[in-house]
Amino acid sequence: MKRVLILHYHEIWLKGGNKNYFLSRLRAAIRQSVADLPVESLESIAERLVLTPGDEAALSRIVARLRRVFGLAYIAPAREVPSPLAALGPAACEMMAEKNPRNFAVRAKIADSAYGMNSMELERELGRAVLEHLRARDASVRVKLDEPEVTCQVEIVPGRAFLYADRVEGAGGLPAVTSGRLVALLSGGFDSAVAAYKMMRRGCHVTFAHFFGNPSPSCNSSRGVAEELVRTLTPYQFTSRLYLIPFDAVQRQIVTGAHESYRVLLYRRMMARIAREIARAEHARGLVTGDSVSQVASQTLHNLAAIDHGLDLPVYRPLAGDDKAEILRLARQIGTYKISCEPFEDCCPRFLPRAPAIFASPQELDGAEVGLDIEALVRMGLEGATCADYRFEGGEVTVRLGWPRRLENRLAGKRRAERQPAARDAASN
Ligand code: ATP
Ligand code: MG
Repeated sequence: MKRVLILHYHEIWLKGGNKNYFLSRLRAAIRQSVADLPVESLESIAERLVLTPGDEAALSRIVARLRRVFGLAYIAPAREVPSPLAALGPAACEMMAEKNPRNFAVRAKIADSAYGMNSMELERELGRAVLEHLRARDASVRVKLDEPEVTCQVEIVPGRAFLYADRVEGAGGLPAVTSGRLVALLSGGFDSAVAAYKMMRRGCHVTFAHFFGNPSPSCNSSRGVAEELVRTLTPYQFTSRLYLIPFDAVQRQIVTGAHESYRVLLYRRMMARIAREIARAEHARGLVTGDSVSQVASQTLHNLAAIDHGLDLPVYRPLAGDDKAEILRLARQIGTYKISCEPFEDCCPRFLPRAPAIFASPQELDGAEVGLDIEALVRMGLEGATCADYRFEGGEVTVRLGWPRRLENRLAGKRRAERQPAARDAASN
């Protein structure tokens, strides 16, 4: 009996005219995630995908990879048999005998108009055969349609039937890289890694920006934590770029040039402005942050609005309405929890004010920035940036130190615009 994997995808996004596009991206993502594992075929059959392994011993490794493929609702390790009842019945009996349930149900889906039976008829026929088979061993076994201990799932397609009793949850969401690009501000803490993941799950390709301070000898730099987080998140989207931006000098200017109660908000504003330039250079359509409303003082509705004011780029905050417990649950599930637990030197709590502003307005922040040369600070951040490219291939993530060429082109454009005022408007867009 042949072993295969039945892959079911979410149907909502497949109903419209984009169906073929999404399906081809999903197939490409599946192929890429198992490229180094033995796969004989990947077929699209009547609203499902069927993956046949080249070696059945590799099935569990293939399933582990597929669990990270966005767009898959669930993965079912199944037995493939010919669809006529004469073959299907004994196979169902054998599978259910292995499961040995006290009660069970049969559920059938038929995607073959010539099958000669509807799904209810098939469920009844198979249910009767399985019940008889199981009762030969244990007379107390019964059919239970409501919350059965084991469900015998049957899927019929022309000429073939698939049988399974277990399924593994998929990652859900939309296939990788189908929704455009975003730049995520990645701190090293729990929240921003989860926020980036949530947007990746919606099909966005995320480029990461991490701001770091000068580490003290007694504490790890946050850079290593950010690098490890990107390494962990890359298999979900196959490639990632991480920009590392030294932030110490920018912070010092804010500390000397602005009132202390606004410091953290001004750090955030500067990070957002620098990330906006990265977004422009990377053709990204927005920023992502890990803010959760009112979790800390800088995340009140007033402060978030004041930070965003004048940015001219959407800021996505997918954790805005989440509790910390929900965020940590997801962090554990995607593998970032342990990395974010590592102690590291976070640049933001440095020079913390005694009484941070809780209800800042955009005008107050603008006022606090009057003594700062914003353009120069943005340029300072960008000029110090380095980048690294991550790639998931053959089951491993490799890292290549890159040169932030796109950023340099952007900076060169800005310099040209400053020299020629007429071109300024074009470069600032
Ligand atoms: P996180 O757990 O992501 O650090 P948090 O709840 O600790 O979030 P803050 O530290 O106030 O909240 O940061 C709010 C958001 O600002 C972060 O989620 C992140 O998107 C961004 N951010 C903060 N510090 C940095 C940093 N050093 N580099 C890049 N982004 C940052
Ligand atoms: Mg933080």
